[in-house]
Amino acid sequence: MRTLRINLDAIVHNLDVMRARASGAKVMGVVKANAYGHGAVEVSRTLERAGVDYLGVADVQEALELRAAGIHTPILAWLHDPADNFQAALSQKVDLGIANLEQLERIALAAAITGETARLHLKIDTGLGRNGSTVAKWAELLDAVLALGEAVRVIGIFSHLSTTSRDEDLTQIEKFDSAVAEAKRRGISFDLRHLTASDGSLTFPEAHYEMVRIGVALYGLDPFSTNRSAEFGLIPAMTAISQVSQVKTVPAGHGVSYNFLHRTSNETNLALIPVGYAEGLPRAASGKAEVSIGGKRYRIQSQIAMDQFVLDVGNDPIRVGDEVVIFGDASLGVPSADDLATAAGTINYEIVTRMGGRFQREYVGEGL
Ligand SMILES: *Cc1c(COP(=O)(O)O)cnc(C)c1O
Repeated sequence: MRTLRINLDAIVHNLDVMRARASGAKVMGVVKANAYGHGAVEVSRTLERAGVDYLGVADVQEALELRAAGIHTPILAWLHDPADNFQAALSQKVDLGIANLEQLERIALAAAITGETARLHLKIDTGLGRNGSTVAKWAELLDAVLALGEAVRVIGIFSHLSTTSRDEDLTQIEKFDSAVAEAKRRGISFDLRHLTASDGSLTFPEAHYEMVRIGVALYGLDPFSTNRSAEFGLIPAMTAISQVSQVKTVPAGHGVSYNFLHRTSNETNLALIPVGYAEGLPRAASGKAEVSIGGKRYRIQSQIAMDQFVLDVGNDPIRVGDEVVIFGDASLGVPSADDLATAAGTINYEIVTRMGGRFQREYVGEGL
């Protein structure tokens, strides 16, 4: 009744597209937030078989779930909570992003208890103002890492761009290079510098370093949320589908759904679709978003409710059971995640990551 169809072949294709643009750098597939709503285990298995170099997640817990599912590819987790289980992370060979001394001390303790060497990626905040060491504290963090000797091994140094403007990003790239130089001056050796996500990887080929971190583009979505994924050769992997659950004829002047955002102007047919904001269809898109039935677009003129929305389909021969595409691959003529994002005043990332509720995920394609 409600399906998120995930095309694993599209994900493999998108990995190849982004790899071809990565100037020979390694590719980290970012699978945080349940692989942007696509299913972290299934997507990670597919990426592993397709030869991705690294997987990236925010939380240690996300990394542990992938290890429990039998994923062996190196995984980096970078967003930590005081309660995170660093011992389990080390035992499961999860690389850890490090932003400050407090995290380093907890990791050193976990390394001492488990006897494992902690694999670290030191994160420098080059301007985003989010996760990472400040420039001011960077030298202190580097010295503390050196003082730990063999208990830790620095695998990489990384940062993240704000994508505010080309100039702002170029300033961050300069700061990144200085932070890397500082680490080398202090005698820290490491193999991987990584800075760009999907958008930066497309915008700054000169900043691919040894690895790029690709999230949204793997799922076939335009990292700039400008509905141009096809221009980049990307294929959207998620199609959100439902079926018409009721059709009924109502007279002119009939109110439709809460607050009567829409009232019928003629005798017409109303089609009910069992997808609501509980499934991640944004209520803010009421009156604006379009869906596709049998290749024809219908605007959701009435208020999207928790479980359902209603379309005024006029005299079109819509029947119970007809497939309704809420969004998918725009090149097939259906609305895209970007279209729905625009209707809801947000970005495609937020659309796909929040798809859930009573949707069932269905995987198609070989994934290889
Ligand atoms: C989410 C995230 C990414 C991936 O970003 P996309 O824009 O989806 O490619 C890369 N790096 C970090 C640190 C992130 O948090």
